[in-house]
Amino acid sequence: MEIGAVRTEPPASCALRVAVDAPLWGTFDYLHVAELVPGTLVRVPFGRQRHIGVVLGDARPRDGLRPIEAVIDALAPLGADWVALLEFTAGYYQRPLGELMAAALPTWLRTQRAAAVDARLQRSGARALAWSAADPDALRAALPSRAVALRRLADALAAPTPLRAEQARSLHPRAPSLLRDWAARGWVHARPACAPAARAGAAPALLDAQRAALDAVQASSGFAPFLLFGVTGSGKTEVYLQLAAQALARQPRAQVLVLTPEINLTPQLLQRFAERFPGERLAVLHSGLAEAERFDHWAAAHSGQARIVLGTRLAVLASLPQLALVLVDEEHDASYKQQEGARYSARDLAVWRARQRGVAVVLGSATPSLESWRAAARGRYRLLELPARAAGALPAVRLADAARDTALRSGALLGTALREALAQRLARGEQSLLFLNRRGYAPVLRCPDCGWLSDCPHCDAHLVYHRTDRSLRCHHCGHRTAVPRACPDCGSLDLQPLGRGTQRVEEALAEAFPAARIARIDADTARRKGAAQDGFARVHAGDVDILVGTQMVTKGHDFQRVTLVAALNPDSGLFSHDPRAPERLFAQLMQAAGRAGRAAVGGSVPEMLVQTAYPQHPLYAALAAHDYRRFAADELRERERAGMPPFSHQALLRAEHARAEQVEVFLARAGELAADAPAGVVVYPPVPAALARVAGVHRQQMLVEASARGALQAFVRRWRAALAELAAPRVRWAIDVDPTDY
Ligand code: ADP
Ligand code: ZN
Ligand code: ZN
Repeated sequence: MEIGAVRTEPPASCALRVAVDAPLWGTFDYLHVAELVPGTLVRVPFGRQRHIGVVLGDARPRDGLRPIEAVIDALAPLGADWVALLEFTAGYYQRPLGELMAAALPTWLRTQRAAAVDARLQRSGARALAWSAADPDALRAALPSRAVALRRLADALAAPTPLRAEQARSLHPRAPSLLRDWAARGWVHARPACAPAARAGAAPALLDAQRAALDAVQASSGFAPFLLFGVTGSGKTEVYLQLAAQALARQPRAQVLVLTPEINLTPQLLQRFAERFPGERLAVLHSGLAEAERFDHWAAAHSGQARIVLGTRLAVLASLPQLALVLVDEEHDASYKQQEGARYSARDLAVWRARQRGVAVVLGSATPSLESWRAAARGRYRLLELPARAAGALPAVRLADAARDTALRSGALLGTALREALAQRLARGEQSLLFLNRRGYAPVLRCPDCGWLSDCPHCDAHLVYHRTDRSLRCHHCGHRTAVPRACPDCGSLDLQPLGRGTQRVEEALAEAFPAARIARIDADTARRKGAAQDGFARVHAGDVDILVGTQMVTKGHDFQRVTLVAALNPDSGLFSHDPRAPERLFAQLMQAAGRAGRAAVGGSVPEMLVQTAYPQHPLYAALAAHDYRRFAADELRERERAGMPPFSHQALLRAEHARAEQVEVFLARAGELAADAPAGVVVYPPVPAALARVAGVHRQQMLVEASARGALQAFVRRWRAALAELAAPRVRWAIDVDPTDY
């Protein structure tokens, strides 16, 4: 070193092992001037970019390590619980830890300087906060007797009215930072300063069944999983609200995690929690948030300031240092399973977190997943039942036999029975809700002369006809073209939409009922931000007579004036390659039925009408009887016979490449590598994926089935490692553990 040279930086001397939020295997070592406790958030250089890292522990110092760029010390270190959750998830789902970090941590942090993080934290939380002492005596005792200003602060905190951050600053200039420090030590806790006008929405007196459920959860101690089985409208949400209230009352720093399947349902559930807990800061986590906004909510959960954290599946990965209760609404919902990257099940992870923390978890549903239902039957979960609606009545289910309905027989979308039922609702000023199954039934353009169909050039899928902008679009790869004026094969000018898209239903309705106010909500209308919310708001406000949509409209909403719900084409779910299709269909139909008759309005008996060619099918019989138990018993018998989950455990190896041979070669090698699979683990030969070609990429998969979860886990861990050694660089592959989509 030159004599007289000025060292601007002290030497970096400690090596640390860091998990970096990038989708790569392994952890990475960095240097820092000092030790950092595990869980500390840091920003690190990574390749040419900056990433967020989480310190996992010490590493062996060696040459060539890069220094940590910044320690994000405005945020408390992540707890060991959280790190263990991510490590478990990565291990169980066979994914890199960093990929889960990326999913779980707010990416906003990657690019921010310390001052910006600090400022944002101040703005989003600290300034509006009011503080109070957790244990005033302990706090006073912990302070040196001569630190007069600090003692004044401690006294102010002990007063019955919480101390607002602005007031604190006038007592002592360092008060805001001290308060954060004391909060980290658990001496004080922060609450959002509540608007004085806010008054908690009154909780209704509980029905007996609700009371019994509440008492059972309250009486539990340690890890206690419950299945709250209650028909739609039976008051499950009310039970969640009161459970949350209890948990927060019992322990001032407790946190409650509330999971909800759909981003569209989040505002509604959020509103109920916000009304019930007006003084609480609620953190909301879902994919629709802007990055900085997501950071605010994430940080509120991480700091413990938000005691209620509500969100969709990704919220299960939030940092919740004081987690005391987990609530999973509509636990059967398929959207709890992430279908790309780390394909985790938020429902299963929610149960895992409850076990880790030794707290209660309540899974609620009118149609539980067969996994949860069987767990309850075997006593692993405790069953809590709400057998009746809290208000209103369950609709009568009527099966409109397509073979006997002249309109349906001639190919109309709306059968005679449905038209009559709609006319009656319109005459009485009541609302109706019509839904179609999935976007797969969106209209395809067809030539009646030669049979030409609008196929996607890149996928094994039809292009869907969009009337509004006269385009044909592939719902898988996004390919888009203008509607041809004539049939490309025979030149006919008579191209017609085939199938039963929501747009066509909307048209048929407008034709049949020109005076009716019709709204449509599906994935297309919902693409515009807030559009679905607007649509639902119009229905709630009574500005809509008939709502048409995909299954989106069947979920969760507490419509007060709907007395008719109709399923237009549910039969496809009866006979599907997907073994879970009947379970989903049944849940969807029960959910949909639950939208009718939620309050006693008008003169009509609430009704659900199902247009079907199979009115004798046992699934519909169970539906008509509102009998989930019967459906579940039938379906479980089938699953047991077929050796399907929950009677076995599965993993799926998915592989894809632009050239089909490449995929075949790769999966053949995978089969060879699986030759040593132990007894009890069966590896099936490769098959094409349900959608075998998407955007020009061929997709195949191999199913692994095992009688025991442990054996499956041990096998896929070794298999994945062996596959990673294979030289098949361009074949994209991944293992999906506990797949729900085949
Ligand atoms: P779920 O979540 O099972 O669909 P909710 O909790 O949304 O049921 O309750 C359905 C309706 O019944 C709501 O309008 C709710 O306010 C009302 N409700 C729930 N519990 C009670 C109760 N104990 N007394 C009166 N009304 C109730
Ligand atoms: Zn033609
Ligand atoms: Zn396509």
